[in-house]
Amino acid sequence: MSLLYVCHYSEIGLKGRNQHFFIRALMNNIRRSLRHNLSINQITLRLNNKRVFLRIEDNVSSKEVNAVLNRIFGLAYFSKIIITDWNMENVLKEAVKLHASKSFDTFAIRTRRANKTFPYLSEEVNRKVGKAVQDAYNKKVKLKNPDIICFIEILDNEIYLYNERSEGPGGLPVGINGNVLVLISGGIDSPVASYFAMKRGARCHFIHFHSFPFTTKNSQDKVQDLITVLSKYQFRGRTFFIPFADAQQKIVLNSPEKYRIILFRRFMMRIAEKLAKKLNISALVTGESLGQVSSQTLENIRAIEEVTSLPILRPLIGLDKNEIIKIARKIGTYTISKLPHDDACTRFMPENPVIHSNLSDIRMAEKNLDIESIVQEQFESIEKIDINL
Ligand code: ATP
Ligand code: MG
Repeated sequence: MSLLYVCHYSEIGLKGRNQHFFIRALMNNIRRSLRHNLSINQITLRLNNKRVFLRIEDNVSSKEVNAVLNRIFGLAYFSKIIITDWNMENVLKEAVKLHASKSFDTFAIRTRRANKTFPYLSEEVNRKVGKAVQDAYNKKVKLKNPDIICFIEILDNEIYLYNERSEGPGGLPVGINGNVLVLISGGIDSPVASYFAMKRGARCHFIHFHSFPFTTKNSQDKVQDLITVLSKYQFRGRTFFIPFADAQQKIVLNSPEKYRIILFRRFMMRIAEKLAKKLNISALVTGESLGQVSSQTLENIRAIEEVTSLPILRPLIGLDKNEIIKIARKIGTYTISKLPHDDACTRFMPENPVIHSNLSDIRMAEKNLDIESIVQEQFESIEKIDINL
């Protein structure tokens, strides 16, 4: 049995001469995502009248397909459809069939003609189809708030009908806005930040710093699980684990306690930047939200970002924790994030971390550290995992 869908794209409609490129990316992502998530191979995609038509020949349910399409950035909405030839008789027949399995008392027909040469006006189609459905099932037409609406779209050489429309996630197809490196911590925020970066078309690669053997391995397992969930929204990405314990020990032994967290973060930034430059990635992403914790005051954010020349994207900067949690639940990362783990930084959390640091104090605090060699050593110990779907 084949399933047919029509997919409407969102903002890519605005991209002028680059439209073609955006639509190709969207179609590739739809194909890849269905293959990866449902092992579907029999997929045909085509473009007609600014809509993407999808035909699936494999044996899957529309519920499963909906769940996948729901995670494809760039889709505004999508519907399971019936396609028919360009004549009124077929429209009447298919419209009656479409209502056969539905339970309803009142209904309405809404027709749109992209091709105005169809021999009936939209209103006439509404009336004729309305009458056919009424006669077949003895139900009432109700234009305001009917139980069910049948949409009919008349294109250049085909007509399609549907009565359920699902919202897509919006945004832009992953990959069209290049690559970013996300500093991912195993907490609640950074997976949500990754989601927003992907939503704007950036492909995410991930770097995680762990304190093994000071901590257990479970922060790495958590990050791995989080990335598995996030990969449902994109299809290729690399993950880099950095054993950070040696660097942390050097920082702990050679700098004032209250600056420790900021120094940890400055080293994370330096290492992330070096890796990003090697991979030709032009921005970093963090899950920081202004004022959420002591390392996220304006002064401390400034002190942390001083060490990198790359732009740092902070998609969550204006979100409250409750808002972030709500999104984490929606995208499926919350239950993993909230499992307990030993964090690379909380392990060494000072009693009184500095809240409003100033740059010269921070630079002074680093003067006994051989920054270059620490970064180099860390860089050489990177462990890499590819997710290539
Ligand atoms: P999260 O919930 O993402 O852990 P948080 O509220 O715990 O965030 P912080 O611990 O201050 O906030 O971390 C701020 C940001 O720094 C994180 O969102 C993440 O981008 C980065 N970060 C923190 N710890 C790590 C780590 N061990 N490895 C990689 N990045 C990290
Ligand atoms: Mg954290």
